[in-house]
Amino acid sequence: MIDYIIVGQGIAGSMLSWFLLKQKQQILVIDDFNPSSASNIASGISNPITGRKFVKTWLADELFPFAQNTYQQFEQLFGEQFFHSVSIIKLLDSVKAQNDWSARCASPEYHPYLTNDKLVYLDPQKVKNDFGGFEISGATRLEVSKFLSCYRNYLKENKLLFEENFSVDALKTEDSHVTYKGIASRKIVFCEGASAIQNPYFKFLPFQLAKGECLILNIEDFYPDKILNGEVLIMPTGIKNEYYIGATHQWNFDDDNPSEIGKNELLGNLSTVLSAPYQIKNQLAAIRPTVKDRRPFIGFNPEFKNVGIFNGMGTKGISLAPYFAEQFVQHLIDGKPLTKEVDIRRFL
Ligand SMILES: Cc1cc2nc3c(=O)[nH]c(=O)nc-3n(C[C@H](O)[C@H](O)[C@H](O)COP(=O)(O)OP(=O)(O)OC[C@H]3O[C@@H](n4cnc5c(N)ncnc54)[C@H](O)[C@@H]3O)c2cc1C
Repeated sequence: MIDYIIVGQGIAGSMLSWFLLKQKQQILVIDDFNPSSASNIASGISNPITGRKFVKTWLADELFPFAQNTYQQFEQLFGEQFFHSVSIIKLLDSVKAQNDWSARCASPEYHPYLTNDKLVYLDPQKVKNDFGGFEISGATRLEVSKFLSCYRNYLKENKLLFEENFSVDALKTEDSHVTYKGIASRKIVFCEGASAIQNPYFKFLPFQLAKGECLILNIEDFYPDKILNGEVLIMPTGIKNEYYIGATHQWNFDDDNPSEIGKNELLGNLSTVLSAPYQIKNQLAAIRPTVKDRRPFIGFNPEFKNVGIFNGMGTKGISLAPYFAEQFVQHLIDGKPLTKEVDIRRFL
């Protein structure tokens, strides 16, 4: 009998399986490999200051150093680089926004992230920035699909991965363990991202999914070492003259395919920021596993006690997943309590 079956190898399943392996647990990951999963198309940014009011991200002081440490350990293990410190320029759209920023700078808890007291002005031939912008410190970017591909190879080499679609109908649950296609495991944890809304074991969880679309553009002679954050995000991908433009948040959608509506919204927002000419190279879309109260879903089904979930990473999976995967594993191995905001018992 193994210890854990993990369903899904997005950022959530990757982190959970990794911290279980570090505790010498016997695991098997089952993933159907979707190159257009939310994790695979995410820009991969962890931004400590977000929103119109420039608020510090929930638990940023804990999540960000932990994520950095974790991804850097993976870089050493795989001998590859996929995690970077980045410079984000938040573009301002009014005098009020300038004043709000100035007020934030005065607050000591923001000092690690808002160090500058000068506004930055970019070339108006390239960027519309009449009100300037400010630089955010401490932001990072994970090249998510590159990392996931390295980790997938690692799992494969160690014979810890089944590449197939997991069928919940084939899962048998008993008091002491679960069985899937002849494999007995003490527990199973679902990390399926947005597909979880079809999972009969977790129907009681209030997902509120949001489709996200992005464009890949060619822009010549632009800013290859800065991420601009205005009505849209403009991020260099690392390929010469290539920029990622993202992302939409659509609450009503029929499927997970790129759409004209998504493209038009992105181009409309882009026109408020970009003055430079561009060509569209590609458009991508995926569904985020967003949640009504914007906090992850972690825990076990109250009736089927061997059936767990690690999900609900919403718009911030890259910074949330490492920290909470480790916390979940400590909970499983040593019985340490979960942060109450992420524990699914809040819905029982
Ligand atoms: C356009 C866009 C931009 C984003 N940008 C950012 C960003 O900059 N920073 C950030 O932190 N977050 C960002 N996000 C959010 C981030 O992508 C999510 O928080 C995160 O990827 C969720 O990871 P996950 O592992 O829970 O789900 P997923 O990435 O969806 O992974 C689920 C995995 O499970 C597999 N799976 C599902 N069902 C089955 C089954 N039955 N059998 C086998 N396999 C199965 C899927 O194929 C997939 O591999 C963005 C999202 C989008 C859409």
